[in-house]
Amino acid sequence: MEAGPVTASPPGVPLAAYRENGADVLLTCLDCFWRKTIDREALIARLQARGVDGERTGIKAVAQLATRPCPRCGGRRFDTCPAFP
Ligand SMILES: [Zn+2]
Repeated sequence: MEAGPVTASPPGVPLAAYRENGADVLLTCLDCFWRKTIDREALIARLQARGVDGERTGIKAVAQLATRPCPRCGGRRFDTCPAFP
């Protein structure tokens, strides 16, 4: 276990770390299980544009940064995990 501030859920592995194995980001709606694979570099660039350090943003924390609701059910609760090639 790592010492650190208590958070609701750990942020996960930083996005930049996935460059090594070329994984993208799989976004899943927790309400209807709609899924979408997001290009990792495009996502990092979009976060940087919003003033977020995308390279250091954890794979799990990305889910909380979604700006748009689910296109299928309108839900706003998402999960994110790596999508390995
Ligand atoms: Zn949904």
